[in-house]
Parts: sequence; structure tokens; C-alpha cells
Amino acid sequence: MQDKGKVFLVGAGPGDPELLTVKALRLIQSADVLVYDRLVSQAVLDLVPSGVSRISVGKASGNHSLPQHEINDLLASLAQRRRMVVRLKGGDPFIFGRGSEEALHLREQGIEYEVVPGVTAAAACSAYAGVPLTHRGVSRGVRLITGHFKNDEPMDIDWRSLADPEITLVIYMGKSNLKRICTRLVAEGLDPATPALAVQDGTTPTQRRVFGDLLTLPTRVKQVRLESPMLIIIGRTVALAGALDWYRPKGERLNEPLVRNARA
Ligand code: SAH
Repeated sequence: MQDKGKVFLVGAGPGDPELLTVKALRLIQSADVLVYDRLVSQAVLDLVPSGVSRISVGKASGNHSLPQHEINDLLASLAQRRRMVVRLKGGDPFIFGRGSEEALHLREQGIEYEVVPGVTAAAACSAYAGVPLTHRGVSRGVRLITGHFKNDEPMDIDWRSLADPEITLVIYMGKSNLKRICTRLVAEGLDPATPALAVQDGTTPTQRRVFGDLLTLPTRVKQVRLESPMLIIIGRTVALAGALDWYRPKGERLNEPLVRNARA
């Protein structure tokens, strides 16, 4: 056992390097090898000492990302040979991050691991957009869902339970199905005027936001060509951004009337 290494499954947060945990920073500064995703920001990678070898397993410059089973094998084989492997993931490793799949594989291989939580996109992008996920008297809960469904696959979720005006709905990976999602929520009874927000590159200097409601958001997102990574937030608390909009990176092209709409 003692000649095997150890894998740290570490959350890098949403992009702003100051949102790394102290533990994450310590680990990336003392790693032997770093295995990271495309979602990990350059500003975070800049904190990795030059002596640490780096392996990118995300889609970069047109290459496809490594299939999950190959990432699993890579982590295991690195840990067989190295002392300390840091597997760095955007946001939190256990929230739509496949960290648990990697942990299960490592466990099967008898390799030690630790999990270091990170600030997930829902918490970070909402805060930097001026949108509280809960607010007394407005939202009494939060649901985090993935909006990623394979081509033509029915969106197999209990939409009725999601069409709840008293919760805030946060959708990861929702860009390509945004229109279908909004239409479905309205069909299940959610008010079409429910405020909704899309955030690209949340917490970073390139952050962009588009405000609207269930009817208007999909078109507006297309009009301004918002790109991935994009997080969608739907619910009444989005209207609070009109008052709580504290983070404005220089040059963010925000559609002012949309914020005024949201405030009304
Ligand atoms: N483990 C990550 C999520 C990985 S899934 C976490 O906990 O945050 C990838 C999705 O996360 C993206 O498609 C997008 O929906 C969301 N996301 C992550 N970082 C983001 C950011 N800085 N801005 C907007 N969306 C982000």
C-alpha cells in the first residue's frame, strides 16, 4: 500500500481563482501531477507551479475529451507510479462532475483518494449575478438539474415537480435544450413571466449575463450568442438581480432593459 500514490479529487470552483479553497490551493501547489478539465480556468492553472506536470483531459483545440473510462484508468495508473495526483475539476467534483465515478474506480483498484469540495457553479454564478438562490418569502428551495439530454432522447425528468414557483431551478449544461426546457415548464403550469437568467463564464472577467423570462430567455440567449459554459437560473429570486447586481466585469455587455424588467 505504501508504494502506491494517492488521488485528490479537487474542486477548482467556477473560474475566479480566489474562490479556490485553501485546501485546493495547497494541494495543487504540492502535487506531482495534475489532471484537469477544460472547465478549469486559466487563472487557476496559473497558480500551478511550473514543476508540476499537467495532463489535460478536456476538449481543447478541437480534440475530443478523453472518454471517462480512460480518465479512470489514467488516474489509477498515475497513482500506481506517483506519490500525489491532483484531479482538478471545475466547480465541485461531486456535482455533475463525475468525481464519484472516478472515486468508485479508484476504490475498486485499491487506490487511496480524498475529495475536496469546490464552489459549484450554482452557488458562484448566482452570487456573482446578484441572484440569491433562496430568499425568505420568495424561494424556499433550490433544485440543481442537468439540461443535457442526448439527441432526440425524451427529457426524462419529473417536470411537474420542477414547475414549482417556490423553488429556484438551476440548470447545468442547459444551452442546447433551453427552449425545450422553458416550454416544458410553462406546459406544466409555471408562469411564463417567471424571471430567468443565463450566465456565461460566471465569476470571471468574461462573464456575460442575459435576463429574461421563460418566454423570452431562449431567443435572447441566441440573439446575443451566449456560449458555454452557461448556467441557467429560473425563479422569482432572479428579479432581485435588479437590486443586488454588484459584480460587473469591465466590458460586460448587459442588456439594461432586461434588468429593469427583472426588477419590475
Ligand atoms: N462540477 C461543475 C459542473 C460541471 S458540468 C460544478 O460543480 O460547477 C458543466 C456545466 O457547469 C456547464 O455546462 C455550465 O452549465 C456549468 N458551469 C460551470 N462553471 C460555469 C461558469 N463559470 N459559468 C457558467 N456556467 C458554468
